[in-house]
Amino acid sequence: MAREATFENALQFASDLIRIPGLSGREQDVAARVREEMEALGLVDIRTDSAGNVIGVAKGRGDAPPAMLNAHMDVVAEGDHDEWEVPPFSGEVRDGYLHGRGAMDIKGPLALQTYAAASMIGTAPGDVIVAHTVFEERGGLGMKRLLEAKEVEPAVVVIGESTHGDICIGHRGRAEVEVAITGQAGHASVPARARNALDLLGPVLEGIRDLAGRQESDPVLGASSLVATMVDVLPQSRNVIPDSAVVTIDWRILPGDDDTSLMARVRDAVSARVGTPPDGVTWEVRMASEAQVTYTGLEADRNLLTPGFLMDADDPVVRAAAAAVGRREGEGPATVRPWQFATDGGWSCGVFGIPTVGFAPGEERYAHTNRERLDVEEARWGLARYPLLVAAIQEALAG
Ligand SMILES: [Zn+2]
Repeated sequence: MAREATFENALQFASDLIRIPGLSGREQDVAARVREEMEALGLVDIRTDSAGNVIGVAKGRGDAPPAMLNAHMDVVAEGDHDEWEVPPFSGEVRDGYLHGRGAMDIKGPLALQTYAAASMIGTAPGDVIVAHTVFEERGGLGMKRLLEAKEVEPAVVVIGESTHGDICIGHRGRAEVEVAITGQAGHASVPARARNALDLLGPVLEGIRDLAGRQESDPVLGASSLVATMVDVLPQSRNVIPDSAVVTIDWRILPGDDDTSLMARVRDAVSARVGTPPDGVTWEVRMASEAQVTYTGLEADRNLLTPGFLMDADDPVVRAAAAAVGRREGEGPATVRPWQFATDGGWSCGVFGIPTVGFAPGEERYAHTNRERLDVEEARWGLARYPLLVAAIQEALAG
């Protein structure tokens, strides 16, 4: 007997998930719980891919293009437990809110998406793929692998990051770029024998500031912005002249920006200020990278770049989504807007070109805070709207 796809069961599932911690790379227990629920709800083709993403399918009644509902299974660190009003892993419902780390980012919406798909078994215009990914909070390794490997091939994606009931159509991306200056280390008492990497720091920072002053702007997403945020010097000793100084740039990027174009722009800007560097000192521009290992053992040395994306507000998928969801209070289609933060939509739409929209209950301002919560009545409304949204976008694509 399959578990019934009721809101009460979805809320219980969300609460269970909150009680299972799981930072990026340690999602295995959350993944196991998600699989169990998919099985109980009657999804089919349930599997875990090489990155640890969990996939299940709600078979539709027809052959409309497949839609994919996506949330991520990792959460950010909870910080000091004493700073939480309600304990972070309690999953408690109190004063009309589901509380805890992941309540709205994103275990609550993950549960709602899974239940929405289950409620459409045999009735959706086409198949509904449910794919919950790993490593979203560290740049989206899970989603990248899922789509790159063609583990699933959806025609449209709905991301469950909180929108407070609006339809979200994009966001800026984020990249970390480094300017690495190399000289020759030496004792601070004999500067002439060394080549100080810090000698180039001034012009490098000026070049970065020049570039920051000529950033492009998008009418919907706003301007891209960049700023130097850190200088790492090696060796770290006050009486040694350093042979290495690395400047980190935090860059909020626009859709279409990629590693190659970002690095070329920094290179040009810095080069204009540095000119010919002093003898024995060199510099290069590179992407910051991080070694990541999934809980399944998949290793990747990843550039720290989360792409941006933007759907046209007049795209048939966006219009259908907004009309189907409607306003929670009042008449007419849902508000269409971008998110402030980055999501896995940067991969699905920005890189892989699959139409992507976001819809979920929850207020963005609670994300990553120690006041994280999800309004239960808003969640109930969200679950009721989800099947209408999925059917509408599948029908829009079927033409
Ligand atoms: Zn999230």
